[in-house]
Amino acid sequence: MSADKLTKKLSETHVCIVGAGLTGSLMAVFLARHGMRVTILERRPDMRAESISAGRSINLNITRRGLRALERAGLEAEILKQSVPMMGRLMHSRSGETTYQPYGRDESEFGNSVSRGELNKTLMTAAEKAGNVTIRFNQRVAHINLETNTLTIQNEAEKNRYEEKFDLIIGTDGSASQIRHCMSEIADAQCDTDTLNYGYKELTILPLEGGKFALEKNVLHIWPRGLYMIIALPNFDGSFTCTLFLPYEPINGSPSFAKLKDERVVGEFFKVDFFDAYGSFDRPEKTFFENPTGSMVTVTCDPWHYKDRVLLVGDAAHAIVPFFGQGANCAFEDLTVFEELMNKHVKDDTVDWLNLFKEFNKLRKPNADAIAQMAFENFIEMRDKVGQPEFLLQKAAEKVLEKNFPDKFASRYALVTFTHTPYEVCRDAGVIIDKIVAELCKNIKSADELDLKKAEQLIDAKLAPLLKGRVRDTALSST
Ligand SMILES: Cc1cc2nc3c(=O)[nH]c(=O)nc-3n(C[C@H](O)[C@H](O)[C@H](O)COP(=O)(O)OP(=O)(O)OC[C@H]3O[C@@H](n4cnc5c(N)ncnc54)[C@H](O)[C@@H]3O)c2cc1C
Repeated sequence: MSADKLTKKLSETHVCIVGAGLTGSLMAVFLARHGMRVTILERRPDMRAESISAGRSINLNITRRGLRALERAGLEAEILKQSVPMMGRLMHSRSGETTYQPYGRDESEFGNSVSRGELNKTLMTAAEKAGNVTIRFNQRVAHINLETNTLTIQNEAEKNRYEEKFDLIIGTDGSASQIRHCMSEIADAQCDTDTLNYGYKELTILPLEGGKFALEKNVLHIWPRGLYMIIALPNFDGSFTCTLFLPYEPINGSPSFAKLKDERVVGEFFKVDFFDAYGSFDRPEKTFFENPTGSMVTVTCDPWHYKDRVLLVGDAAHAIVPFFGQGANCAFEDLTVFEELMNKHVKDDTVDWLNLFKEFNKLRKPNADAIAQMAFENFIEMRDKVGQPEFLLQKAAEKVLEKNFPDKFASRYALVTFTHTPYEVCRDAGVIIDKIVAELCKNIKSADELDLKKAEQLIDAKLAPLLKGRVRDTALSST
């Protein structure tokens, strides 16, 4: 029998959040504000008591969308204290030459390199301080009975299983979500997981003596090599967390995880392909085998909710490949929207959850699809185009347009990263921007030769009607 409509007062509603990652922990902060009782079930041990396992320390570029959710939770300043600003990207060519591309139009626009583990720890502590929130570690959700809202939970520490019923269940259990899996098997949610034919491996560049940075500090470093690449993000302690993206199997004879079989081959690979950084990596031949190989997926699912009882948020609903640095930013923007919808829908300490979930799904799903598409396009861009002269000219042209038309023009990257313009609009604007820039770059060799009069006409005619002035960070509502 299907459960009745949930009409309980918020103060009497017991919600279970599955997964104490970035999304689940921050979600708990917002729900606790409405006086709800929140239990978070997390399959791992408490990372605040354990060291984060080597090779899984990932750094995130947290930008406007993520910062706004953190600001609303009162945590922005604390997180920014742990971050290193990144003003642009620095490309390292095979011959060791570097080319710098600033991220923003001026120094007010930059990325923030934050340790995912440290961010997660801060959010867990904030959740526990927010009110009636309990995090239960080593509790892996194995199954959900959607009709009775009952979870089957595996206690990983005591090696036993038990069942528990909740009023509401929120699945924030990441890209391999068990909640999503059950929703797609039992209910009619259409869910797909598309696995990229690339894996990633983490490496480290250690600080120099005295904690100094071995490479330029305030940038994201990229070593683009056609079908593979390394990126490096700065850490607060002077080190860099580097990620090698590589196909599992050779593509047109390229290096691949399948080919890099022993320390000698790996050593050669780093020495030849990344020679200017080879001496800085911490024992690349060893860490390559010590650290796990991560996989990357795009998850799509529709709808994100089951009736008025179960909702997916964050990677569980829409994991994306990491090449726009927006997965967590998008998940945090989900939470800003969710919080705004709560404020709108709460009446007399109750909520019409079904309407809220439907509206949330309607507002966020097209935007999640748009950033998934752009993230994949950025993968191709970073892999294939970043070092090409034509691409560099187009990027330089975008900068000239941003400087000359600050209220009318922003690149797609800037719209996604430094504004709250819906991802859907950013994607559509990107198509128009590419056409405008290609038209303006015909027959010129340098961005200084751009025809600015023609540029303004094209921007006014083609881009302005879509962007409606949304080219700077705005305090507009996300909904
Ligand atoms: C290499 C790489 C680089 C990235 N860079 C960026 C970046 O620069 N900027 C950015 O915004 N995003 C980035 N991302 C994406 C970002 O890491 C994710 O979007 C973000 O971590 C999603 O958070 P989440 O809480 O939804 O999921 P997760 O972080 O996956 O958290 C899920 C939680 O649920 C728990 N869990 C899972 N299953 C169960 C279960 N059955 N029962 C109980 N608990 C469970 C897990 O242990 C985990 O704690 C990157 C990702 C990768 C892989």
